[in-house]
Amino acid sequence: MKQPITEIAKPLVAWYKLHERTFPWRENPSPYRVWVSEIMLQQTRIEAALPYFHRFMEALPTIKDLANADEDLLLKLWEGLGYYSRVRNLQKAAKRVMEEFGGELPDDYEKLLTLNGIGEYTAGAIASIAFGKRVAAVDGNVLRVMARLLDDDTDVMDTKHRKQLTKLVNELVPEGYAGEFNQGIMELGETICLPNAMPRCLECPLKDYCAVAGLERARELPVRSAPKQRRVEQRMVFTIITDEKTPRVLLHRREKNGLLGGMWELPNALLPANSVLEDWGIPVISTKPLSTAKHIFSHVEWQLQGTLVKAKSFTPKDGFQLVLATEWEQYALPTAFKTYSKNIPMLLNGEEIQ
Ligand code: SF4
Repeated sequence: MKQPITEIAKPLVAWYKLHERTFPWRENPSPYRVWVSEIMLQQTRIEAALPYFHRFMEALPTIKDLANADEDLLLKLWEGLGYYSRVRNLQKAAKRVMEEFGGELPDDYEKLLTLNGIGEYTAGAIASIAFGKRVAAVDGNVLRVMARLLDDDTDVMDTKHRKQLTKLVNELVPEGYAGEFNQGIMELGETICLPNAMPRCLECPLKDYCAVAGLERARELPVRSAPKQRRVEQRMVFTIITDEKTPRVLLHRREKNGLLGGMWELPNALLPANSVLEDWGIPVISTKPLSTAKHIFSHVEWQLQGTLVKAKSFTPKDGFQLVLATEWEQYALPTAFKTYSKNIPMLLNGEEIQ
């Protein structure tokens, strides 16, 4: 006879207290450390993130330090982790925390949600782990454990269903142990209720509550609809500005046929784009990474990484054109480049961009 799922908190929290792995953000779960760790772990494995976390905390031990940090230092600390928008958002949010919240991260879930780069999961994690607030933090691990506990084969990619599951988990979070509960269910998903193998049900503290404990059926859950298949292209987009009294920007005309046929664009190339600047004959003075962006066409997704290039004056090759500030308006670039093209008028006026 299965026990009711409404009673999982006690065995889960007890199990977590015995089995939690030691991480620096758990040893000293200050709001700032929890926040930085959650952002780092969004697209990075725990083992890979650990040295970055130590370096980051050593260089920027407080929210104020983060808010005031030079961009070069920030990017250096993040170098190798990728998805640089994460660290840029961290700093934007830190500045807002300094200006609007007196230098302290708010302990309120809704207020946390208003900060750059903090979504529902991260807000829930910070509020519960750092402030003990009774709120869920639902990530992929939690969705998997819940789908199995309930033998629920509803598509977890369905937004409505995710909302319902989040509501249910919110009801299960116990008063006084929210952080332990949330970390416990995530830890269970990472170490016991494994995604791509048979879960280790015999070792699971929730086996008496689970509808599929020990059954092959567990491997079929959760059900996740395959995303619409699109070809993904990772491209480097170059904003190439000449270092002249009147700066110019380099544009490229696309081939007549095919995607965005005949349109002007910022020069770009599939990654790795190691030698393209040389191939295009660009006399590079310096380069600087810009933010990432994504653009989805019907059949292809562009994942873009920007690079700002300062170059000496040069004569462009065929198919390229150097454009002055006074001519810029004439060139309508596809929205796919908007993240980068919006800064070009400023750059052509000799201003720096963040
Ligand atoms: S009993 Fe097995 S399937 Fe159920 S939650 Fe535990 S590990 Fe997952």
